[in-house]
Amino acid sequence: TISILWFRRDLRLADHPALLAAVESSDEVLPVFVRDPALLARGGVRVERLDASLAALSADTGGALVIRTGEPAEVIAELAESVDAAQVHVSRESTPYGRRRDDWVRERLARGGRELVETGSPYAVGPGRVLNKSGEPYRVFTPFARAWHDHGWPEPGGRPDDIAWAADPDPDAGASNNADPGSPDADRAVHGAAKGGDGSAGRGGEAGEQAALARWRAFLRDDLSSYGDQRDRPDLDTTSRLSVHLKYGEIHPRTILAELADHPAAESESARRFVTELAWREFYADVLWHWPRSAWRDLRDALAGMDYDEGPETATLVEAWQQGLTGYPFVDAGMRQLRAEGWMHNRVRMVTASFLVKDLHVWWPSGARYFLEQLRDGDLASNNHGWQWVAGTGTDASPYFRVFNPVTQGVKFDPDGDYVRRWIPELAHLAGAAAHEPWRSADGYDYGYPERIVDHAEERRETLRRYERARGDG
Ligand code: FAD
Repeated sequence: TISILWFRRDLRLADHPALLAAVESSDEVLPVFVRDPALLARGGVRVERLDASLAALSADTGGALVIRTGEPAEVIAELAESVDAAQVHVSRESTPYGRRRDDWVRERLARGGRELVETGSPYAVGPGRVLNKSGEPYRVFTPFARAWHDHGWPEPGGRPDDIAWAADPDPDAGASNNADPGSPDADRAVHGAAKGGDGSAGRGGEAGEQAALARWRAFLRDDLSSYGDQRDRPDLDTTSRLSVHLKYGEIHPRTILAELADHPAAESESARRFVTELAWREFYADVLWHWPRSAWRDLRDALAGMDYDEGPETATLVEAWQQGLTGYPFVDAGMRQLRAEGWMHNRVRMVTASFLVKDLHVWWPSGARYFLEQLRDGDLASNNHGWQWVAGTGTDASPYFRVFNPVTQGVKFDPDGDYVRRWIPELAHLAGAAAHEPWRSADGYDYGYPERIVDHAEERRETLRRYERARGDG
């Protein structure tokens, strides 16, 4: 008998509950990935990174991975028919689109008497499972994180020995879509997945399961001990950089949590802090599961009447923000890092997002959409709820009056100005923290760095006025 394993956000072979279920239920497993036009249309860097990951997975399956482009319900149903698979195994999806798509696939398979079997998920605890004592979901992080921790998770499942991969029933059908590791396309994609800004760190090895494990273990060895103190420092750049690997499921969070629990520093403040960050990822997926509309609408209504700017003048300001030309060095460094690397440090994500919402008065979904287009780790739940947190419309009623000051944030978290100089050559001549305030140096603008597009103090007051009006206190 043959079953299908349909890979989606789980591009690995170890600790893969759906793969284990497929192996146990049949003699051979046909590994399949469907390049869904609805998802491909969404973004350049993510698709490039996906192809790099697929190239690695294809190599890990000895070339058995079947890659097709097309409408998933049709592609999966046709493949299941042609190999006569009674079951199609998947990891449970939790995004609104993924859930709808899986409903269509389930129905389509059922018409042929076949079954979609969901086992595990991309999370340590499947979204929807952590509930409070009254059986309600959490909207606030801290109690969620406590309950998530208490809930616990199964031990990682390991990698099945000797998986018998089934042969592609129609090898010619996928030839043109297959991100074969030797093809120029795959090569470009793998090169593009570099960790470092110079593009060299990723040559050949940054995408895929082996790269994810290597990254995790390097972090555990070199950077975990300083994580608690340094995680907010974009200049030091010592966070794990696991987000992109987690996004494609090249490593399962349970693997990370289990190895961390066995580590001598498991009880350290740094390790606890790291687990808390993973819990944020799980929390946001859980929120999206319970409130799918929170992907693009305010989760809380408190600011429903908020006044945002749009129109040509605002578009020009937004363009400057996207290009890293706002005249605020910390913001511009982040936006340039985003374009160059498809990744940005968490502290800088908060400050750049805050700048768009609170200095330029733009509604958060427009910024969230731009981030999703640019980020290699672009994840609907973490990104859009991260934006809502900054905008004050989401979980954790973060005080609406918190407005990040882009200059003091820079001086605090990039105290020597190294991060700013790394991304803004026009400021390379300014020493130390002076790079954060070119307006204070006589030669600050000598190399073409732009003047500030808005006055932060003034826009902060404007934001507070608008928030107060929206809340009915103004
Ligand atoms: P580390 O500090 O090493 O953290 C380890 C892991 O914990 C991360 O890989 C990630 O999976 C998780 N994590 C850490 N912080 C958060 C957080 N605040 N929310 C959710 N998960 C977290 N993360 C994404 O994975 N995809 C996104 O599209 C995304 N967009 C964001 C947009 C905004 C406006 C903000 C404020 C945050 C966003 N984040 C997003 C969260 C966070 O910035 C990144 O996960 C983190 O910077 C990734 O770097 P790292 O792997 O080195 O993180």
